[in-house]
Amino acid sequence: MTTPDPPARVVAAARALATGEGHLAILTGAGVSVAAGLATFRGPHGLWEGRDPTELATPEAFARDPEAVWRWYGARLAGCLAAEATRAHHDLAAIAGAVSATLVTQNVDGLHGVAAGGGGAANLVELHGSIRRARCSACPYATALAEPPVGVPQCPTCGGALRPDVVWFGEALAAADIARAEAAFASATLALVVGTSGTVWPAAGLAHLAEAFGAVLVLVDPEETHLDDLADWRLSTGADEGVRVVRDALFADAVGA
Ligand SMILES: [Zn+2]
Repeated sequence: MTTPDPPARVVAAARALATGEGHLAILTGAGVSVAAGLATFRGPHGLWEGRDPTELATPEAFARDPEAVWRWYGARLAGCLAAEATRAHHDLAAIAGAVSATLVTQNVDGLHGVAAGGGGAANLVELHGSIRRARCSACPYATALAEPPVGVPQCPTCGGALRPDVVWFGEALAAADIARAEAAFASATLALVVGTSGTVWPAAGLAHLAEAFGAVLVLVDPEETHLDDLADWRLSTGADEGVRVVRDALFADAVGA
């Protein structure tokens, strides 16, 4: 597949970033993790232990049957712990580490943290949480998970039930995470959106925010997205291929590639 060259304004924004001017805001969705081969946990009939998995991702399900919810998240955690970060994760980590950048993800698999060399890169915002962490349902305690817990883990501080540190259906995103993401996109000179259709709030909002404040927008996705009209440079490829093109065309000097 041929890819058009980046427009001059995109190249200029990237050059400025390489000299320490401006801010890069990156937003990623499920597309960056496709090549990691993580199972969707939806079998041929869309069920897990006879249930619709999406019905386990709710506060009500956890209140009703926390052991079943933890069995499901434990299985997903095992898959994530066995998965390797993709080329896109590694290239994005290299870019985000070379310039002033904030990486915002909708994914809960924790692979951006893995690619950055640790669980909690300072410039990483996991909008929907991470299944590699658990937090107390009653107090502020939170912890990393090195392996799937057995049964329902208990809070060492207050004895409450620990729950997966993810945002469930019907729950609000953490206000601090939204604030960090919005600040990053409002101050961005270049916004890079990878592997997200832009239909789920706040993804579309962040891209529009960046555009409203004058950022140039680079979009990588093999499918049509709701953000296509905003893009200054549009790469209709998978994440691994498209991010590599972005790295080589815009950030080769910055990352030393
Ligand atoms: Zn607690």
